Amino acid sequence: MSAPERLRIAGGTVYDPANGLDGEVRDICIERGRIVAEVPAGTPTVDARRMVVMPGGVDIHSHVASSACNHARRLMPEEHGAEPVPAPDLVPDERPARSGTGGTLPSTFTTGYRYAGLGYTTVFDAAVAPIMARHTHEEFDDTPIVDGGFFVLLGNDEYLLRQVEAGERARARDYAAWIIGATGGYAIKIVNPGGIQAWKSGQRNLTEIDQPLGSSGVTPRAILETLTDAANDLKLPHPVHIHCNNLGAPGNAATTLETMQALDGRRAHFTHLQFHCYGKGGEQGRGWSSAADRIMEYVNANPTVSVDVGQVMFGPATTISADGPIEYLLHASSGRKWVNVDVELETGCGIVPHTFQEQASISALQWAVGLELFLLAADPWRVALSTDHPNGGSFLSYPALIQLLMDRAARDEQLKRVNPKLLAGSALADGLSREYTLNEIAIVTRAGPARLLGLRHKGHLGIGADADVTVYAGERDIARMFAAPRYVVKGGVLVVEEGQLRRAPAGRRLRLSPGHDPGVIRDLRRHFDSYGTVAFDNFPVRGLRDAPMENG
Ligand SMILES: [Zn+2]
Repeated sequence: MSAPERLRIAGGTVYDPANGLDGEVRDICIERGRIVAEVPAGTPTVDARRMVVMPGGVDIHSHVASSACNHARRLMPEEHGAEPVPAPDLVPDERPARSGTGGTLPSTFTTGYRYAGLGYTTVFDAAVAPIMARHTHEEFDDTPIVDGGFFVLLGNDEYLLRQVEAGERARARDYAAWIIGATGGYAIKIVNPGGIQAWKSGQRNLTEIDQPLGSSGVTPRAILETLTDAANDLKLPHPVHIHCNNLGAPGNAATTLETMQALDGRRAHFTHLQFHCYGKGGEQGRGWSSAADRIMEYVNANPTVSVDVGQVMFGPATTISADGPIEYLLHASSGRKWVNVDVELETGCGIVPHTFQEQASISALQWAVGLELFLLAADPWRVALSTDHPNGGSFLSYPALIQLLMDRAARDEQLKRVNPKLLAGSALADGLSREYTLNEIAIVTRAGPARLLGLRHKGHLGIGADADVTVYAGERDIARMFAAPRYVVKGGVLVVEEGQLRRAPAGRRLRLSPGHDPGVIRDLRRHFDSYGTVAFDNFPVRGLRDAPMENG
């Protein structure tokens, strides 16, 4: 039974903030995968009366399809045994239903099914080492339903560091353009600029933005400026995506603010900001405190800055990051098992399982800081919802997070249970009465991230948009409502019907191929010949099914 070419979603209450619809009852019409103005009488119809209609969710920062994810799956076989995942009951389809494994890092098939089952239809993997891009494409090929793309890790790669040291900013830009095209990536990701390279070559991690990397004189500041300007000069749809230096350390809000100020006036996205918003506290300033208010004051006042939160949710998580030195510290302090992978010429990778507990003071502080970032945001268009899956918690916890944002009573109830030791003086403990509206939830989960990613056909329901639509039963239990949409349409195909996943078409790859000066190729070939174990001609990913998108 194939999905109909046309569909009408009739009589739902529509939240489409990009088009100014804040809870208006109207029909959404779909033809050949796009939103259209009208469909003929007799078109198959979904009855959405008294239900909430939104564009499909867009996850701007997740870890779902990468070599690093696969290392994490292999690190934790105990998670797989604990939670068998049977194949869903799909209608006969061109792709057979697949069983899989669950836990904090589900297998590829399960990841696609579960995202779609939450009403999410677009997902970006936020950290892919260029040389491992092939692996990411293959995992995305096996991740059904969602459209997927990824951000390419730069900023600790030796070729770039050489250009920064030589002041060759134009060549750095051409290199960035080439590597996005060669890997099939979508945006530039910087993780702990310079710090990974310092640590993996035996120096200490870099924790301040003007600390030089070895004897080179290259600083995090210079790396940040070079790549931020590269992304903006290339008019990439998404600006540089920055994981700041000094993640997870008390007092790191100072580093975060300095980083934002260093890029003042330039378009830049700061990711999992929650992990970068700690003040010092306690006696002798050795403890931790929330600095969310200070950081949000800057974010609110600077429209070129956007962020995603990286909310911590209590329960099991897996920390997985290119930030090798931080993962080493977490392993050393928690005593939990650990993977470290240094990636030749490019970056690092560390993985440590973690559990966020209500009764642990630092977990409680992290939970509170994330909520403060949301609740102090003056412009939700620039504050995207993420848990940095699976770092702060699984994407399956998004419905519970949405409830915390929409329901102060639920939030206060949980606040009473958490360890209050580090919360003195925090905005949340002082009482934040804000409750997100459905319109604001639609902004932080789809309209905003789509806009920040420059995805013109996603995150809204205007004519010509991709027909990615989620219909939620209008329930009073917010978490339940967002956990189990009644209908999900992906690219015009009804994938969830009556709350059941029924179809699993392949998603599209969202990638770019920005233009660049061909002169950079000669230089890169020399670099690969001298230092790489992979030959230059073997490096680019070939044979991708979907063509690159228009740039900008
Ligand atoms: Zn991340």
